Amino acid sequence: MISIIVPCYNEQEAIPFFHKEITLVLKEIGEDYELLFVNDGSKDDTLKELKALSEKDSHVIYLSFSRNFGKEAAMYAGFCNAKGDYVAVMDADLQDPPALLPEMLRLLRSGEYDSVATRRVSREGEPAVRSWFARRFYSIINKISEADIVDGARDFRLMKKSMVDAIVAMGEYNRFSKGLFGWIGFRTYWMPYENVERVAGETKWSFWKLFKYAIDGIINFSHVPLSIASWFGTTMTFFSFLALAVIIIRRLIFGDPVAGWASIVCVVIFIGGIQLLCLGIMGQYISKTYLETKHRPHFIIAETNDESVIRLK
Ligand code: UDP
Ligand code: MG
Repeated sequence: MISIIVPCYNEQEAIPFFHKEITLVLKEIGEDYELLFVNDGSKDDTLKELKALSEKDSHVIYLSFSRNFGKEAAMYAGFCNAKGDYVAVMDADLQDPPALLPEMLRLLRSGEYDSVATRRVSREGEPAVRSWFARRFYSIINKISEADIVDGARDFRLMKKSMVDAIVAMGEYNRFSKGLFGWIGFRTYWMPYENVERVAGETKWSFWKLFKYAIDGIINFSHVPLSIASWFGTTMTFFSFLALAVIIIRRLIFGDPVAGWASIVCVVIFIGGIQLLCLGIMGQYISKTYLETKHRPHFIIAETNDESVIRLK
């Protein structure tokens, strides 16, 4: 059986298109399947749309969150509840082309791979600034963390059950799936494809939201920012010793008159700034630790048409 997980947040316009297209493809594959729609606290009529669909199509299962928990939580809820031997995550906006599925399934079946992931080779239709920051993000995170993340990687991938079990076992609260997939290993094939524009509705990711997500990704998978503090500390101490030597020698030779309070103020502000920056970095890690130790559920399902689902995890 194949499980398709679809996180939906305000996707009432896109869902009918998605359902039509995915059904065509899955029917052609000819295996048993389930469509797990996760309604991530939508404010529009997404839930109504899903209920109507589930009445028409018995393959449709909807899990409706009690509020918006974010796409990561929606994917996690899907993984926890997927029953298939093969599991895929797909956006509701058809930016992850269902037409790739048969080929992905064929690759998995050949036995060489445990998962087939997708990456965009083009970023057409995306603002240039966003593409630039995205590229910087991938190059930075690959340098300073152990998660290896391909540039342009999407969340869209088809996996064997064994890989899904590993993801479910990673119960951390701060989730960054692209990193988690890399961290657990397994043999992954990267399938390139051209970017597709969303079919209806609009993107849920503002630039700022993406930026914060990128910072989260780095903090979740790297300790390098923490060492920035000790690095700054060491270099500054070294330079202050040098400066001290210069001042003492100058005083002995020239008997230096008093001058330059401006430069002192600059130095004080500079050091103060660096200290605050380092405190801020540490604060980021501490706040993540704080959230982890609370062991709050990742998601709460308020409504569903399948009584066997895990409602809270
Ligand atoms: N999504 C979600 N919860 C959120 C934000 C987004 O479940 O808080 C879903 C959304 O419905 C879509 C997918 O995540 O199916 C990707 O979102 P979107 O298409 O807006 O992102 P983009 O493709 O523009 O990066
Ligand atoms: Mg999209």
